[in-house]
Order: sequence, then C-alpha cells, then structure tokens
Amino acid sequence: MNNRVALVTGGSRGIGAAIVEALAKDGYDIALSYANSAEAAEKVAHKVRALGRKAITIKADGATVEGNKAVIAKTIADFGRIDALVCNAGMFPYGPIDESSAEDIEKVLNLNVRAVMIETAEATRHMQKGGRLIFIGSAFGARAPFPGISLYAATKAALRGFAKGVARDLGPKGITANVIEPGPIDTDMNPATGDVAKLISSFVTTGAYGKVSDIAAAVAFLASPQAEYITGAAIPVDGGLEA
Ligand code: NDP
Repeated sequence: MNNRVALVTGGSRGIGAAIVEALAKDGYDIALSYANSAEAAEKVAHKVRALGRKAITIKADGATVEGNKAVIAKTIADFGRIDALVCNAGMFPYGPIDESSAEDIEKVLNLNVRAVMIETAEATRHMQKGGRLIFIGSAFGARAPFPGISLYAATKAALRGFAKGVARDLGPKGITANVIEPGPIDTDMNPATGDVAKLISSFVTTGAYGKVSDIAAAVAFLASPQAEYITGAAIPVDGGLEA
C-alpha cells in the first residue's frame, strides 16, 4: 500500500490518534488535523515518521467551512492525492433538548455532520478507484438508551444515511463509504471513570469500555483492499451496545 495517503480528522488524540498509527503501520502516509493540540498532533506525526511513513499536521477548525476545505486542500497540496478519508473529529454535547440552545445545535451539526459532507465532497474529487471513506459515527446513532443525547444521536444517525447515499454515488468509481459505530471508548471525551461512565457501561454486554485500538483495527480493515466489497454499511464496534 505504499504511496497511499490517508487524512484523519481529529488525529491528535483519542480514537483519531490510534487510527493514524494503525494506518501508518499498514503503509499509509498521513495527514492529520487538529483544532488546538499542536504538540499532541506533532507527537502523533513523529510516531508515523518513526514507522517510515510521511506525516503532516494541519490546524483547522472542523466546525467551519474554511477548515473543512483547508484540510483537503493542504493534503492534496502536500501529497498530490488522497486515498482514504477518515472523518473522526467530533463533539459530544450532553443535556436535555429543552435546555439546548440554537447555537448548541448549530455547532454540533457543523462539526459532526456538515464537516463530513464537505470533506467528502472535496476529497472525492481527487479520489481514485480503491478510495475509502470512513466516518466515525456512534452506537448512539442506532440507539439512544438514556436521556441527554438527542443532538449527538441525531448527528451520528445522519452519518448512516450519508454513507448509504455516497456509497451509491461512488460505487461505480470503486470508492467505498462506511460508518464505524463505536461503543464507549476510553478517551478524553468519554473517560472510563465517573457516574456517566457507569451508566453507559451498563448498556454494553460486557459492562466494560472499549479501547481506541478496537476502533483503529476496524478502520484499518475498512481501509484495506480486503474490504472492497463492504460499502454503505454501519458497523458497530461497541461491545454489543446496539444488540
Ligand atoms: P477526543 O475528544 O478524545 O478527541 C477529539 C479529536 O477531535 C481531537 O483530535 C481534537 O483535536 C479533534 N477535534 C475536536 N474538535 C475539533 C474541531 N472543532 N476541529 C477539528 N478537530 C477537532 O474524542 P474521541 O477520540 O473520544 O472521539 C473521536 C470520534 O469518535 C468522535 O467523532 C466521537 O463522536 C466518536 N465516538 C467516540 C466515542 C467514545 O466513547 N470516546 C464513542 C462513539 C463515538 P484537539 O486535540 O486539537 O482538540
């Protein structure tokens, strides 16, 4: 897979950083974006270079149209191609709908949904046969098992519909589009400690949180040539939360 290029949005920490490492191990050169954590992003890029692959970091706010366009433009400017787009950057607003403001709603739509649409539109103009679109959804896109997650659940459910439509649009070109739906994964966004963690784990068959590497392994498989016949799918990696 030498010379293939992957862009991972939100690759500086958590699930995104693990995805970057897994794809670099599989031979991808990497562009990774971040919002604020320049130092963390550079550390992840350093690991990629230590694996013998190229890496660039891109500071871009995924909640803005300019940021969405910039990540694709910079990847193309530096590498001249894009073979896998992993839309991972996201936020998790928590609270009942009757306490949510219009601004809260706009922000989560922009980062969790609009960014995925714009980045996909911009990236696929440059994608060749064998291209891969992988969106990080959530098990809460399939089930909303407790109160306070309506906005988040709606944005992640939207990715399912988007992936199906994109799979239809680009299947004839040999490009696949899928959603990975993580269950609770121990990261800064969702630490495996505290009261909410206890509640969330109670919906997992094992009662346990997953690891960032669980998600990275699934993404690496979808990004591989072996996954060419999987498209338009929403694949749970969730300890059975959706069961
Ligand atoms: P983290 O909060 O640990 O990491 C978020 C990453 O996204 C960071 O790299 C961060 O960059 C980047 N990011 C955040 N906001 C923006 C922005 N406005 N523009 C660009 N980049 C941004 O999150 P996780 O690793 O936990 O989550 C990653 C994805 O997985 C999200 O889409 C989330 O919804 C999804 N997910 C997570 C689950 C979990 O339990 N953790 C479960 C299900 C889905 P910076 O470091 O600069 O802040």
